[in-house]
Amino acid sequence: MKLNTAAMRYLTSEDFRVLTATEMGSKNHEVVPTTLITQISGLRGGSGVGNCISELAKANLIARVKNASYDGYRLTYGGYDYLAIKAFSNRKTIYSVGNQIGVGKESDIYVVADERSHKRVLKIHRLGRISFRSVKNNRDYLRNRQSASWMYLSRLAAQKEYAFMKALYDNGFPVPEPVDQSRHCIVMSLIPGFPLRQLSSHEDPSTLYSSLMLFIVRLANHGLIHCDFNEFNIMILDNPPSDDAQFVVIDFPQCVSVDHADAERYFKRDVDCIRRFFEKKLGYVAEDAPDFKKDVQRIGKLDIEVQASGFSKKIVKDFERAIAESREKGEQSLAAGSQSDFEDSNGDSESDDTDHGNADEDEDEQAKVEAADDEEAEEEEQHE
Ligand code: ADP
Ligand code: MG
Repeated sequence: MKLNTAAMRYLTSEDFRVLTATEMGSKNHEVVPTTLITQISGLRGGSGVGNCISELAKANLIARVKNASYDGYRLTYGGYDYLAIKAFSNRKTIYSVGNQIGVGKESDIYVVADERSHKRVLKIHRLGRISFRSVKNNRDYLRNRQSASWMYLSRLAAQKEYAFMKALYDNGFPVPEPVDQSRHCIVMSLIPGFPLRQLSSHEDPSTLYSSLMLFIVRLANHGLIHCDFNEFNIMILDNPPSDDAQFVVIDFPQCVSVDHADAERYFKRDVDCIRRFFEKKLGYVAEDAPDFKKDVQRIGKLDIEVQASGFSKKIVKDFERAIAESREKGEQSLAAGSQSDFEDSNGDSESDDTDHGNADEDEDEQAKVEAADDEEAEEEEQHE
């Protein structure tokens, strides 16, 4: 999906208030009733809010939902992007948005810059592109509100990735520097290099291979397994400072603890992936590869530290299941047309099967909007 920043220039602070109100309303409503949007926004005068709503809808930041039993709107991907970027802009972590440099199955990557023209990377998580049947079927937090799940899961992916990146960066692992996180987006340093996948030959593959394997073992010694350690998620530096520091590892939302029931299998998968790449692409057949049981000795607890920073075991487990499912049969489920499980930013095929909340919740929302501005409409009840 293309990131549309044009609206940033002409939307008024009232428009922004109404957009924020729609986000907050989404906490309890799949389709946010117009009356609730008005109420949460705290703006008086019916036509004013109406104008804001039509501006926002014209810019595709919110979408009118057809077939609803009442008049309502939902936040689109574009609207969610806008809120995150606005937060970054207010916090001065992003000043301008440049070219898109990557499109993953589950993310869009842009080069951005701060006020001093320092380049950074904006990663926008887009988990609604894939199916999350297991989560959808099993989780009460989604309360059958399927379209809310793309927001929830994408935000969880960003929070999780940011937390892991920070823990790894602070412990001296070669990963990008995490700069900021809002909603489903993270900002990190731009790595001057290219994905390992683009390497077709190397003058000393054994040194590179060894340091990659050392990374996997060191990570596991600190309690973590990357789980997607492949040639797409390893950046080779244009100007490496030394032979032992030729790469930077990216893409962490699927990381798991070494205490995970499938840890050994995931570890082996990461190892085999690199081994295979070196054999096939670089013609290097390694004599040795690390073994989970023999070579991993826990010396750190990054898994526990990250968990302590806000991810309950239950949420992490659900999320891991969703990620594993998507990685293992993502293509398959896409092909099987499971997209209908989720809306995309233009989809308006959903029907309104939401509960209509209650007065308490609505009051609660209103109390919070006063301070909303660039804060997120947190879904706290989902963090238990
Ligand atoms: P996905 O989860 O969709 O795989 P990634 O985080 O792996 O997303 O990023 C996708 C691509 O974007 C990478 O393969 C890389 O080419 C580029 N990229 C991501 N982060 C950075 C970064 N910090 N610096 C430079 N390039 C990056
Ligand atoms: Mg990746």
